[in-house]
Amino acid sequence: MEKILNYIGGNLVEPSGLAYLDNVDPGRGKVYSKVPDSDQIDVEKAFAAASAAFQGWKNTPLETRCAILQRLADKIGENKEALALAEARDNGKPVSLAIHVDIPRAESNIRFFATAAMHWSSESHVMENEAINYTHRKPIGVVGCIAPWNLPLYLFTWKIAPALASGNCVIAKPSELTPMTAYLLAKLAIEAGLPAGVLNILHGLGPKVGDAIVKHPGIKAISFTGGTATGAYIAGTVAPMFKKVSLELGGKNANIIFADADFDEMLSTTLRSSFSNQGQICLCGSRILVEASIYDRFKEAFVHKVSQMKVGDPLLTATKMGAVVSEAHMQKVLGYIELAKQEGGTILCGGNRILLEGELADGYYIAPTVIEGLGPACRTNQEEIFGPVVTLQKFETEEEAIALANDTPYGLAATVWTSHVTKAHRVANELQTGIVWINCWLLRDLRTPFGGVKQSGVGREGGWEAMRFFTEPQNVCIKL
Ligand code: NAD
Repeated sequence: MEKILNYIGGNLVEPSGLAYLDNVDPGRGKVYSKVPDSDQIDVEKAFAAASAAFQGWKNTPLETRCAILQRLADKIGENKEALALAEARDNGKPVSLAIHVDIPRAESNIRFFATAAMHWSSESHVMENEAINYTHRKPIGVVGCIAPWNLPLYLFTWKIAPALASGNCVIAKPSELTPMTAYLLAKLAIEAGLPAGVLNILHGLGPKVGDAIVKHPGIKAISFTGGTATGAYIAGTVAPMFKKVSLELGGKNANIIFADADFDEMLSTTLRSSFSNQGQICLCGSRILVEASIYDRFKEAFVHKVSQMKVGDPLLTATKMGAVVSEAHMQKVLGYIELAKQEGGTILCGGNRILLEGELADGYYIAPTVIEGLGPACRTNQEEIFGPVVTLQKFETEEEAIALANDTPYGLAATVWTSHVTKAHRVANELQTGIVWINCWLLRDLRTPFGGVKQSGVGREGGWEAMRFFTEPQNVCIKL
């Protein structure tokens, strides 16, 4: 059985304790590879390698740094099919999604920040006849990047690319549930000629090796994407150590549909925003709020389309909906569906595990599920389910739509459907979220700030926000 290895100091190496965890193929419910169960000793080794590489990497001319990262992006592009297949097998997502979204995005993340480094410049502030200030933005040193399982290579590269491009050395950890493409990335980094120690990838459990990264006194910044409870723990741990921290956390996003929306476009995009990646995208709109005058029309059309969605083998190109990531996650999502029933919700379609045949018989499949009849205060409408489950709620006025949308502890993203321009701006302005999409969903420009408010996180990724996070400004004032 294939053994995934850590990537430390430019080499693929076994974990120091020689211990491994099972890595499960969720589409088949079978262990198919082994993942290192790394510990604090591995973090020390990675830190020594990263510290030794830092002076060289930060002083590497920008053009060379950019060229090396571009070569890594090229390698991702050249290996697109293999990476997509690996992602589908490891995560349960349809290979068609991986090949059209996850892997191309991983490539462009690296390309985007490689070129951003070439345009990154210092600011200067002149005090007339008195002084000139210039602000140097220096790399921090050794930084930690911790990523979740839902968009494995996509979010892993979204963190490490700006960290490396701005001159830091990185110790990165993918989720233990989806380690494969980070391992393949390590092999590509070696082929691309990334200098030894600049990027180190450690595999294993969050509370073990992840915690050791967070607590290491020499690792000066932590960029984390994952659940809100983990984020709260990390925030509490690093605060007294005065580390920089960026936290991209959970969501419970509203999808607000006004009666004057373009119905067909809204319907097809709402199917995607509800169930892409089996609803396991932090930006999915899991609370669908519909203006009362079109509620019945929307409900009928939406439920009809959702009932036709077929769940199938993630590895087949025709599949549009695959497996959820793990047995534990499947049980959690099914538990929320039971809770919705206890809370008085009506299941309009789905609501159950799907048992496929043959080698897929043990896979973790859930029918796409639509629920109505629940008020905003119930747990189903307050807590992140992170699966193929959406609820429908009706609203009468714009004010009520805004109040419903804002009525959760989260504040990551929202979608608004209307053809009324002024209303769109008015509603967007009132929404307590870091991101608002109007008449679209998941349309991403990598230059824009990405992140949430309330319990969806602290800080922003993307564009200059990420380059600023991974650098420390130093102001130099020269008296004239
Ligand atoms: P998680 O918090 O369980 O794990 C995320 C990562 O943190 C994993 O690599 C895990 O091993 C590690 N980890 C866990 N405990 C740790 C600890 N004590 N110290 C250090 N590291 C630790 O989250 P998950 O289940 O992998 O991901 C799903 C969550 O991620 C959902 O809540 C989703 O909304 C969120 N998410 C947010 C965004 C965003 O941009 N806001 C994007 C994707 C996913």
